[in-house]
Amino acid sequence: MTAGTVPLLASVQRFLGRQHGLYINGGWRPSTSSQTLTVFNPANGQPIAVTPDASAEDVDQAVQSAHRAFVSGVWARRAPAERERILLRYADLLEQHGEELAQLETLEQGKSINIARAFEVGSTLNWMRYTAGLTTKICGRTLDVSIPVPEGARYTAYTRKEPVGVVAGIVPWNFPLMIGMWKVMPALAAGCSIVIKPSEITPLTLMRMAELATEAGIPDGVFNLITGSGSVCGSALTSHPRVAKISFTGSTATGKHIARSAVDRLTRLSLELGGKNPAIVLADADPQQVIEGLMMGSFLNQGQVCAASSRIYVEAPLFDRLAADFEQAIKGLSVGPGLDPSAQINALASGAHQQSVQAYLADAREQGAQIISGASAPDANGYYVSPSLILNPDDNLRLTRSEVFGPVLSLTRVADVEEALARANDSDYGLTASLWTTSLKSAMDLTPRIEAGTVWVNSHTLIDANMPFGGFKQSGTGRDFGVDWLDAFTETKSVCIRH
Ligand code: NAD
Repeated sequence: MTAGTVPLLASVQRFLGRQHGLYINGGWRPSTSSQTLTVFNPANGQPIAVTPDASAEDVDQAVQSAHRAFVSGVWARRAPAERERILLRYADLLEQHGEELAQLETLEQGKSINIARAFEVGSTLNWMRYTAGLTTKICGRTLDVSIPVPEGARYTAYTRKEPVGVVAGIVPWNFPLMIGMWKVMPALAAGCSIVIKPSEITPLTLMRMAELATEAGIPDGVFNLITGSGSVCGSALTSHPRVAKISFTGSTATGKHIARSAVDRLTRLSLELGGKNPAIVLADADPQQVIEGLMMGSFLNQGQVCAASSRIYVEAPLFDRLAADFEQAIKGLSVGPGLDPSAQINALASGAHQQSVQAYLADAREQGAQIISGASAPDANGYYVSPSLILNPDDNLRLTRSEVFGPVLSLTRVADVEEALARANDSDYGLTASLWTTSLKSAMDLTPRIEAGTVWVNSHTLIDANMPFGGFKQSGTGRDFGVDWLDAFTETKSVCIRH
């Protein structure tokens, strides 16, 4: 612990000191494999835990456990109000253990303890309670049908929403706890069982949530967790014949790979993938609001946010003013460990990711891009990257077209809104975007022309459990959140009764 950092709870230290296993059928068990994965603290590069690197055999045991629990009806056939009550108790347990989970998240992921408390714990609680409430709102429709045979027969038809079966949840490393619960909660609310695989570099908070699931009263086998690599463990899970539905959040490359394999069994699939999200700033925007909103939109969690604003197109009259303001704001950001609540930029999640972001910056520098950087790393062993602003990068730079997923923001001068729209939409991605204007007419006219699953006006990156979220184009398929969220975890059955 360094001066100014939050002291670790004894419960966190105890958890880190454990010998970790796989959570199958309501308890921990060792892996059949002797392979392990080390979890590092991004702030200083030190190892903090070792987890199993699960084998295909382990994956099979976890899926069989989930399948047995599903067909037994121990969860799926339980009254919706009982499932809701247990899921609400699960949320209460997260709240009770909130500080412990926030500290674990900062330790394994690198993010600020403030963000871990407010988002990974605080926002996740909102999502959990919202989703628990959906358990008692599942419903179908009654249908008037016109079946003409045999003469004189009458029919009544209706639809039922039934849980799809065993869900495979695959989670990335940027918001491990929150995104993990975005898979667990709708699956369990719908009556499914789940096998969840966290990212190999950030498994700890979901491991703790596995135990709390049992404590909340979720029956054995309904919630299973395996830790392991994408190539062996993740692949064995998503291609398992007893998996009925895959809920994947991660990179577009991995999402496409999983989609190709899912086609063989027509496994149901939701994909929440990458983004290269534009912001369009019109000349009539409020500059102060733009700076505040897009600094947060771009640098929250060191830019490791799928929805982050990373390309800003500014109408010419406002460009010089905003370039100066962004430069000042970026140079004013303090860089330090996530456990120091005053540090505004923290380490990236892994050494490999740090190198990837640095390579984008080196490439841009070699191509002559103008790069303005803020403070540098406080600890040479931590995975830090200085927050950086790129002015008017070429549209064909790697950094302009690819998802960098780091504290890197580009600011581009455009002649007018038509140029801004054309350049904003010129991307394979379509996850989020924002428009900054004080004109209601511009907002109403332009939002339908932006190719993105979420468009904010005068804000960016603010999501809500009741607002559907997902991507256009190669940013994914399907939508998370909102009142229809459970549709993706259910099958619709039509029942037709002759009478
Ligand atoms: P990633 O695709 O490398 O890994 C995501 C998960 O997939 C990990 O658990 C990994 O082990 C697993 N995986 C890897 N290969 C696999 C395979 N062959 N089969 C099955 N599973 C496999 O992504 P990442 O680097 O962990 O996360 C960052 C990415 O996630 C970024 O692209 C970001 O935009 C995206 N993301 C999207 C959203 C969204 O809602 N759209 C939210 C957060 C993150």
